[in-house]
Amino acid sequence: WKQPVIVAVSGAAGQISNHLLFKIASGEVYGPDQPVALRLLGSERSREALEGVAMELEDSLFPLLREVSIGIDPMDVFVDADWALLIGAKPRGPGMERADLLEMNGAIFVEQGKALNAVAKPTCKVCVVGNPCNTNALIAMENAPNLDRRNFHALTRLDENRAKCQLALKAGVFYETVTNVTIWGNHSTTQVPDFVNAQIGGEKAMDVIDDNGWLENDFTPAIQTRGGLLIKKWGRSSAASTAVSIADAIKSLVTPTPEGDWFSTAVCTDGNPYGIQEGIIFSMPCRSNGDGSYEIVDGLEINDWLRERIKKSEEELTKEAECVSHLTGK
Ligand code: NDP
Repeated sequence: WKQPVIVAVSGAAGQISNHLLFKIASGEVYGPDQPVALRLLGSERSREALEGVAMELEDSLFPLLREVSIGIDPMDVFVDADWALLIGAKPRGPGMERADLLEMNGAIFVEQGKALNAVAKPTCKVCVVGNPCNTNALIAMENAPNLDRRNFHALTRLDENRAKCQLALKAGVFYETVTNVTIWGNHSTTQVPDFVNAQIGGEKAMDVIDDNGWLENDFTPAIQTRGGLLIKKWGRSSAASTAVSIADAIKSLVTPTPEGDWFSTAVCTDGNPYGIQEGIIFSMPCRSNGDGSYEIVDGLEINDWLRERIKKSEEELTKEAECVSHLTGK
């Protein structure tokens, strides 16, 4: 048997985790021969709920699940972690400004970044889901200098999946026919779902869907605002599809990317080939050889339409980074 992969999950008593943890424990994420140890991070407020989650995981008799433990101190929970999935965050309340949210959640990610730095494996891969996820990931990264900056991700895979779904529905094809979809930028309404480089059945999506008006004026805002629409309809933010997309994001790093394709993940812009300001966490097209690392895919066509919108998302993230400079030491 292989050594268990140690996966720490924050917000483990929350809605997304309630779907994700069972996928991980079943072996569908890290592979059917890879044992897992789950370390669940919560707070005083969620301690009882966490115990309940751990009981459900144990009662499921997953053969690959070697350990479930719970804790409320990241310095305990992150010990020797191979992966940290940072899902817990304070949701935006009525009347709360984005800056307030950045500040409150920032404090959580300073503490967790420091704990990762102190006790996680230096190779630990970190995926931040809790919003505002790009800037939370930046804060964690800057507080964890012992970890490679390339180990930090913020989740934009849900946005990619949403874009693939809408392109497939419009073209009348199966989802897996849609490839090479990039989400550029921030996981916010400034994100840029890239239909210019997307492909459907190996052809340019713009040739298959010969309707620029729809791509620019319907598809793009639909993806940018789909999270908000779901909250309006469902009364809470997406949980099951988010968990699926986190599983997809991890699988994309632990299995080789199919030839010619790529996936979206928000990563540190240091040394990026698109001239995006360095030192922020920005969603870009990436490939992996399956060992948990990635490379940014170079050479995508950036036309004026894309460039203008990518710039807006870059400006938004640069402003967010300035707002939290006291938390990142920059
Ligand atoms: P939940 O409301 O279920 O909460 C998850 C956990 O966050 C809770 O268990 C709690 O953990 C912690 N939390 C809740 N309220 C507070 C608070 N006031 N202060 C501090 N921590 C708090 O959320 P979901 O699981 O539905 O979503 C988790 C995060 O993921 C949110 O930030 C959401 O915006 C984000 N998200 C990101 C997506 C993406 O694509 N990047 C998509 C969908 C959601 P505890 O008490 O144990 O600390």
